[in-house]
Amino acid sequence: MYRRKLPQRSGMEIFMIKAVYPGSFDPVTFGHLDIIRRSASIADQLIVGVLNNGQKKPLFSVEERVSMLRQVTAEFPNVKVASFSGLLIDFARELEATIIVRGLRAITDFEYELQMSQTNHIMEPGIDTVFLTTSLEYAYLSSSTVKEVALFGGDISHFVPQVVIDMMQNKLSNDQRRNCHE
Ligand code: ADP
Repeated sequence: MYRRKLPQRSGMEIFMIKAVYPGSFDPVTFGHLDIIRRSASIADQLIVGVLNNGQKKPLFSVEERVSMLRQVTAEFPNVKVASFSGLLIDFARELEATIIVRGLRAITDFEYELQMSQTNHIMEPGIDTVFLTTSLEYAYLSSSTVKEVALFGGDISHFVPQVVIDMMQNKLSNDQRRNCHE
C-alpha cells in the first residue's frame, strides 16, 4: 500500500516509497539529522519539508533553513529539501508521498503527535505517519535549547553541524550589531 507505481518506461513495473519528514528545523540539529539518515534508509525517496509558518517567528528564515538542510543532507542522494506552507497533508499529497516521518523524543511529544497523525489519517487514509524514536544520545536535544545556548555564548558544537554554527554566529552578531544601533 505504501509503494507507489512509477510511470512505466520500459514495460517493467517500478514501485517506490516516498516519505516526507516535516518540521520547523530552526535550526537543524544532530537529532533531526539522525532521523533523516535513518528514514532515508527506509524510504526510496525522502523529502525534508521545512514549514513556513506565518504564526511562529523563527530565528532563521525559511530560505536559510532550506539552505542549511541542503548543505547537511548533500551526502544523501535520495534526500531532497523543500519548503511548504499550509497543511502538511496537502504538501504530502502534492508530493505523492505515502509516509510522513516524525521523531519521538519523550512522552511529552506523544500526545500532540498522536493527535496530528490521527487527524492527518482521517483527512487522507492513503498516507500514514511513521514514528522513529530518538537515538538516546539526542533524546534531550531540541532546536530551542540550541538557540538558548547560542544566545548566551555557549558551545553548540555537540548539537549542530558546522554550517549551522557559522550561520548562527553570523545571525547573532548581525542581531547584536542591529541592537547596538537601535
Ligand atoms: P516541529 O515544530 O514540527 O516539532 P521540529 O523542527 O522541532 O519541528 O521537529 C521536527 C521533527 O523532528 C519532530 O517530529 C520532532 O519530534 C523531531 N525531533 C526534533 N528533535 C529531535 C531529536 N533530538 N531526536 C529525534 N527527533 C527529533
